[in-house]
Amino acid sequence: MMAGTDLKSLIDRLEETQSLTREEWTELIRRRNPETAEYLFERAREVRIRHYGRDIFIRGLIEFTNYCRNDCYYCGIRKSNGKAERYRLTKDQILSCCEQGYRLGFRTFVLQGGEDGWFTDERMADIISEIRSGWPDCAITLSIGERERESYQMFFEAGANRYLLRHETFDHDHYARLHPPGLSAAHRQKCLRDLKEIGYQVGTGFMVGSPYQTPENLADDMIFLKELNPQMVGIGPFIPHHDTPFADREAGTVELTVYMLGLIRLLLPKVLLPSTTALGTISPDGRERGVLAGANVVMPNLSPTQVREKYLLYDNKLCTGDEAAESLKNLDARLKAIGYHITVARGDSLNIS
Ligand code: SAH
Repeated sequence: MMAGTDLKSLIDRLEETQSLTREEWTELIRRRNPETAEYLFERAREVRIRHYGRDIFIRGLIEFTNYCRNDCYYCGIRKSNGKAERYRLTKDQILSCCEQGYRLGFRTFVLQGGEDGWFTDERMADIISEIRSGWPDCAITLSIGERERESYQMFFEAGANRYLLRHETFDHDHYARLHPPGLSAAHRQKCLRDLKEIGYQVGTGFMVGSPYQTPENLADDMIFLKELNPQMVGIGPFIPHHDTPFADREAGTVELTVYMLGLIRLLLPKVLLPSTTALGTISPDGRERGVLAGANVVMPNLSPTQVREKYLLYDNKLCTGDEAAESLKNLDARLKAIGYHITVARGDSLNIS
C-alpha cells in the first residue's frame, strides 16, 4: 500500500500536521536512507531554530546512588550484577554537587539513581526541600524510577519541578523482553500519567536499537509520545554492558538515533530534546550530530569524580572530558564550532499544553 510513497512528502506532512499513521511511521523508519535523513535534519533544524534559536540548555546530572532493586536486562547497575561497586551519596555530598553546579552556571539539577530503598520518601523529600531552599531559582528534576503516586506528590510539594522516566518501549511484549516479570509497560506508563497530572514537567523516552526492537515498535513509541505530549524526550542508543544478559547484543547506531531525534523534533516542535551521553559514547561526534538533528539540551555530569565510573549503565559510558560539568567551556567551544552555544537559563519547555 505504501509502495512508492515518497518519504520526503511524509516528512513534509509530519512537519505540517505533527502526525502520521502507524504504517507511515513504520515506512519512514524502515525505508530511511542518507538522502531522506539529510532532508529530515534540515527541516528539524529549521523548526528547532524557529522555537529555540541556537541555544543549547544545560542540566547538571547528579548520579546519587547506583543501588537498584530492579533487574532490567540491559542495565549495568541491575540488582543481579554482583560486580557493580555500589555507592550512595550523602545529603551533604548531593548539596555540594548543587553548590558546585550553581557556580559553574547550572540552573537545573537532575537527581538520577537506581531504585534505592535507602532513599525513602521522607529522605528524598528532605533532600529536595534543602535544594529548593538553597537554590530557589533552580529547577529540580528527579529521575528515580517508579514510585507510588503519593510519593511523587510528596516530592512535588517538597519542591521538585520535573521528572524523567523513559517509557523504554511502548509495546508491552517488547517491554517484557527487556525487563523481568514484575515490571510492566502498563505500570511505567501509569507512572508517567500520574506525574503529569500532579503537575510535573515530564520527560520520557526510549532506547534506540534495544534487543528485539522493530520499526513497528519505534512507530508505537512515536504515537505514544504524541499522546503523552511530554516536555522532554530523552533517547539514546542501547549499548551493551558486559555483566548483563545482553552483553553480547549489538549496540544501537548513531545513524538511527539521530534519525529518530529529527523525527521527534518534527513531531513535538517545542520539546526539549537532549543529545545524550549514550550518543556521545558510541561516536566521538555523536553529541554534535544529535544537535544537528534537532537536539537542544546537554546534560553534563556533576557527580563527585570518585563515583562517576561506578554509575556504569553500559560499557565505556563517558564521564570525563567534555562530558564533565567542569568542562563546560570545552563543550561550548565544540558546539560553537557547529553554530550553536550553551545558554545559562533554566530552560523551561515551551511545550506547555
Ligand atoms: N532508575 C531510573 C534511572 C534509570 S537510568 C529509572 O528507572 O528511570 C536512565 C536511563 O538509562 C534508562 O531509562 C535507560 O533508558 C538508559 N539505559 C540503561 N541501560 C542502558 C544501556 N545498556 N544502554 C543504553 N541506555 C541505557
